[in-house]
Amino acid sequence: MTDLADKTCLVTGAGSGIGRAMARAFAEAGARVVVCDINEVSARQTAAEIGSDTLAVPADVGDEASVNALVERAIGEYGRIDVLCNNAGILDTMALPAEISVQTWDRVLRVNLSGTFLLTRAVLPHMLGQGGGAIINTASEAGIRGGAAGVAYTASKHGVVGITRSVAWAYAKDGIRCNAILPGPTETGISESSGGFDPAGAARLGPVLALGERLAQPEHMASVAVFLASDAAAFINGALVPVDGGWSAA
Ligand code: NAD
Repeated sequence: MTDLADKTCLVTGAGSGIGRAMARAFAEAGARVVVCDINEVSARQTAAEIGSDTLAVPADVGDEASVNALVERAIGEYGRIDVLCNNAGILDTMALPAEISVQTWDRVLRVNLSGTFLLTRAVLPHMLGQGGGAIINTASEAGIRGGAAGVAYTASKHGVVGITRSVAWAYAKDGIRCNAILPGPTETGISESSGGFDPAGAARLGPVLALGERLAQPEHMASVAVFLASDAAAFINGALVPVDGGWSAA
C-alpha cells in the first residue's frame, strides 16, 4: 500500500538532508520526483543520484514568481502533482525574543512559513483539478512547543502547523490530505546552511540530546513521508506526526 508508482512527488529543500532522503525514498517507492532546491548544484546532485524519472528545478520557495515557475515546470513535464512536500527550511538563528533583529525574523518567516504557504497555494488548483493529492509539511517539534530553536524558527513552525490544519480542514472533501512531520534533532546540514553552528543554542538543546540519546537520521523522516503520501494513510488528514524518538512525549 505504500507503492507510489505513477505518482509525481515534488520535494522542496531536496538538495540536502531530510529533503534529499525524502526524494530518494519517493523514487524507491516508484514515484517520479521533482527535486527543488534554492541550490541548483545540490538539486542536480540529488536528481543524478536518483536517476531516471527525475527533474531538478532550482527555486526559492519564499519568492512567489519562483514558486509559480517551479509548479509550471513540474506540470509541464509530468502533467500533475500528486504529492507535495514542503520541506525547505532554515534555522538561521537560535536567538531569544529580545535578541532577534527584524531582518532575521523576516528571513526565517519568509522561507519557512511563506514558502510553505506560497507553494501550497500554487499546487492546490492542480490537485483540485485532478481530484486529490497529499501535502506533507516538514514542521518541527518546535511547531508544538517553545524551546531551544529560537523565536523566529519556533513561530514559523507553529505557523506551518496552522497551514497544515487549515488545508486539511478546507480540502478534505476534495480528496486532498495535508499532514505534518515533526522531526526532533536530526543529523543534517541545517546548522551549517543557516550561517553556522550556534554553541549557545546548542547548549539549550543539551537535555534534549541526553534524553533522545542520539540524533535522528533523515531516513527516519523519509519513511514516514512515503507512508503519509501513500494510500496506506488514506484516512490520515490534519495529523502532526512527531518523529523524535519520544522527545516530545517526555
Ligand atoms: P538542510 O539544511 O540539510 O536542508 C534544507 C535544504 O533547504 C537545503 O538544501 C537548502 O538549500 C534548502 N533551502 C533553503 N532555503 C531555501 C529556499 N528559500 N528555497 C528552496 N530551498 C531552500 O536541513 P534539514 O535539516 O534537512 O531541513 C529540512 C527541514 O526539516 C526544514 O524545514 C527544517 O526546519 C526541518 N527540521 C529539521 C530538523 C533538524 O534537526 N535537522 C529538526 C526539525 C525540523
